Amino acid sequence: MFQRMIDDFKASTGTALRLTSLAAAAAVALFITISFLCAAAFVFVLQRYGLIEACLAGAVVLATNAYTNLLLPEIGIAPVRAQMLGTAPDPRRLVARPTYSDRGFRYWRQLPDGRLLAGGFRNHALDEEVGHQAVPTAKIQALLEREVRRLGAGAEVTHRWAGIMGFTADELPLVGPVPGQPGVYICGGYSGHGMGFAFQCARLLAGELTGRAQMGSSSRTMGSPQ
Ligand SMILES: Cc1cc2nc3c(=O)[nH]c(=O)nc-3n(C[C@H](O)[C@H](O)[C@H](O)COP(=O)(O)OP(=O)(O)OC[C@H]3O[C@@H](n4cnc5c(N)ncnc54)[C@H](O)[C@@H]3O)c2cc1C
Repeated sequence: MFQRMIDDFKASTGTALRLTSLAAAAAVALFITISFLCAAAFVFVLQRYGLIEACLAGAVVLATNAYTNLLLPEIGIAPVRAQMLGTAPDPRRLVARPTYSDRGFRYWRQLPDGRLLAGGFRNHALDEEVGHQAVPTAKIQALLEREVRRLGAGAEVTHRWAGIMGFTADELPLVGPVPGQPGVYICGGYSGHGMGFAFQCARLLAGELTGRAQMGSSSRTMGSPQ
């Protein structure tokens, strides 16, 4: 009787030991597999996209221009709508070169395929052409259509669109660290001139973040010059 109890005890201990060893071996195998998968994923991302220095440094860059005020209203970038239209190709050369007029409130150009593009006229509805609704309006589109006819376009209007620009109080961009938000940087507020400003501002900020250059007095992160 006593011997049987000892045998039962040995048998159950042996089973528990075997199960525990099996579980431990499975856990080690799982750990090694996950480690290999993580390493493989890291090498894949590194080879495909390169070392994303800003992310590794813990920096966040808000390149959100007109939408920045939805994240940081205190920065002072106001959303302003701009509208455009485009005609079907016209075989005639109607305008010689891209043109700005009326202190930048009107602009037009003809594409190489003959399409005429015209934009602007928001000074005819300054109070309405604000906010984040990127939709064309009848009033501005009528003015744009009149403009392309004035320029000699007979082709039908094929495209109408609107976009949102980010304006600062003095119409100069903001670039640099956001005050009171460690690791957060702004690059925006191009006030309708991002095609030129954005590249230079991004270059400055990238230099600062990667340690290749110092922005110094170029840093400007609130709405007035420093
Ligand atoms: C009709 C029109 C005509 C223009 N004409 C000219 C011109 O002739 N010359 C000129 O220099 N400039 C012109 N501009 C202005 C120029 O287009 C902008 O200055 C430029 O596009 C700004 O680039 P950006 O990348 O900073 O911002 P955007 O091009 O506005 O890009 C911002 C991006 O941020 C994304 N985003 C917003 N919020 C978030 C969030 N919370 N999380 C993640 N992503 C987010 C948006 O989806 C968007 O893709 C014109 C603009 C318009 C609308």
